[in-house]
Amino acid sequence: MKPVVVVGAGPTGLTAAVLLQELGVPVVVLERHAAPYALPRAVHLDDEVHRVLQAAGVADAFAGVSRAALGLRLVDAQHRVMAEFRRPARGAHGWPGANLFDQPDLEALLRARLAAPPRTATVTGVRAGAAPVVETDGGDVEASAVLGCDGAGSTVRAAVGARWDDLGFSETWLVVDVLCEAELPVWDGVTQVCDPARAATVLRVGRDRYRWEFQLRDGEADLDVGPLLAPWTGGREVRVVRRAAYGFAARLADRWQEGRTFLLGDAAHVTPPFVGQGLGAGLRDAHALAWRLARVLHGRAPEALLATYAQERRPHARAQVRQAVTAGWAMTGGQDRAAAVRRAVLAGVVRVPGGTALLDRGSPALRGSALTRGRSAGALPPQPGVAGRRLDDVVGPRFAVLTTGAVTPGLQAVADRLEGVALALGAAPADPLSAWLRRRRHAVVVLRPDRAVLAAARDEAGLRVPWGLLTDP
Ligand SMILES: Cc1cc2nc3c(=O)[nH]c(=O)nc-3n(C[C@H](O)[C@H](O)[C@H](O)COP(=O)(O)OP(=O)(O)OC[C@H]3O[C@@H](n4cnc5c(N)ncnc54)[C@H](O)[C@@H]3O)c2cc1C
Repeated sequence: MKPVVVVGAGPTGLTAAVLLQELGVPVVVLERHAAPYALPRAVHLDDEVHRVLQAAGVADAFAGVSRAALGLRLVDAQHRVMAEFRRPARGAHGWPGANLFDQPDLEALLRARLAAPPRTATVTGVRAGAAPVVETDGGDVEASAVLGCDGAGSTVRAAVGARWDDLGFSETWLVVDVLCEAELPVWDGVTQVCDPARAATVLRVGRDRYRWEFQLRDGEADLDVGPLLAPWTGGREVRVVRRAAYGFAARLADRWQEGRTFLLGDAAHVTPPFVGQGLGAGLRDAHALAWRLARVLHGRAPEALLATYAQERRPHARAQVRQAVTAGWAMTGGQDRAAAVRRAVLAGVVRVPGGTALLDRGSPALRGSALTRGRSAGALPPQPGVAGRRLDDVVGPRFAVLTTGAVTPGLQAVADRLEGVALALGAAPADPLSAWLRRRRHAVVVLRPDRAVLAAARDEAGLRVPWGLLTDP
C-alpha cells in the first residue's frame, strides 16, 4: 500500500498520523519546518477531545503536562465577578472538563508516538484524484490518500478547490504569554473581562504559565501591556515568552474533499478562541477520518464511506465556530447600551433550561451522513469505566457493541461482522453510559471507532446498522 501523506506536523497532522499508524496504515508526514514550533499558541481542550488523545495513546502523559481548569468566569471592567461556569474535574468522558496546556508540550507527546519523524519538505501542490500525487520542493510523492493538515494558510486547500466561507468575525487581539515562578492572583481557569473599553481574556495555563489576550481597537497595532498587566500581577516580575498580535477569524472551507485528498484542522476551519474549540476541532477531524480511511484502504469498506467524513464534520465545525462567534460577541461587548441583550445571548450560549451549562452538555451530535440517521446516531456518549479501566482502552480502535444486559449471539454477530468487540456494561448504576442509555430508552448501542453512536435500540432486533457503507464492498 502506498503511504497516506499527511501535510503538516501541527497537532492535527500529528494526531492523524499516530491514529493511522495504530490502524496499520503506512504514513509519511511532510513538514516545511525542520524544528517544531516552540512558542505557545492554542491553550485549551475539553474532555471530549482528551478522548481523542486517549485514542492516540497520549492521554495520561497529556494529563501530566496540562492543568484541569475550574471553568469560565466573566468579570466586569472592575474585575467584579458577573457569572461563573464551573467545569468538572472529571467530566462525562472520564477526563477533566477543561484542560489548559502549552501547545508545544502536546505536540512533543504526539511526535514521540510517531514511528518515523516528519520529513522536512515544503508541499507546493497536490494532484488530487483517486491516486493523488503530492508535489514538494524535493520532488513528487505518490500517496494512497493526502491529508491537508497544513493550517490556516493551507496549500492543499487550493488543490481541493475549496474556498473560505466567511462566518462573520474579524478582530485582532494582542496575545501575551508569560512565565512567572511566583503564584499570581489569577483565578485557576479562564477569566473573561467584559469591558467595553477593552475586552480581555486571562488564563492560568500551567504551574508557572499565564496568558493575557487583549482586544485591539481599529488602527491599534500594539499596546503598552505594563499597565494592563499590573492589576493582575500585583507587582511580581513576569517574563514575557510570546507577545504577538493574532487575528481571530471565523471561516469554514466550502469543500473538504477531492478524491482521496482531504482537509483537516485549521486548513478546513478557523475560529475565534472564545469557547476554546479551535485546536480540538482539528483533533476531532483526525479521529473521524482515520478509521474511515483505514477501513477503505484495507479493503473492508467501500470508497463511499470517505464522503461521510466531510458530511458530518463540516456542520459540526460550523456549529462550534458559530457558538464561538456568538460567545465572543456577548462576552466582549461588556456593559454597553446593549448589555442586557448581550447577557441574554450569553445565557443562551452557556446555559440551557434546567440550569445545565451548554459547555458541560458537550458538543452537538454529528449529523448529515447516512451513518447518523437513526435515533441517537452521531451522539458522543460518556465514557464509563469497565473492569477498572476506561472503556476506550478496553475497546481499542474498533467498533464496540455495548449492552446493559447480556451479550447475546446476535449482538456478538454484529460485533464480528464489524470486526469489533461486544461487551456487557454490567449493572453498575453509577456507570454514566448505562445511565445515558436508560435516559434514551436504549439497552444496546453500537459505537464507532471514533466513539460516536452508529446505532442504538431497546434490543438487538431494533438495531439498524448501515452495513452497505461499512462492510466489504
Ligand atoms: C502563529 C500562530 C499563533 C496562534 N496563536 C493562537 C492563539 O493564541 N490561540 C489559539 O487558540 N490558537 C492559536 N493558533 C491556532 C492554533 O495553534 C491552531 O488552531 C492549531 O495549531 C491547529 O492545528 P493544525 O495542526 O490544524 O494547524 P497548524 O498548527 O497551523 O499546523 C500546520 C502545520 O503545517 C505546516 N505547513 C503549512 N504549510 C505547509 C506546506 N506547504 N508544506 C509543509 N508543511 C506545511 C506548518 O508549518 C505547520 O507545522 C495560532 C496559530 C498560529 C499559526
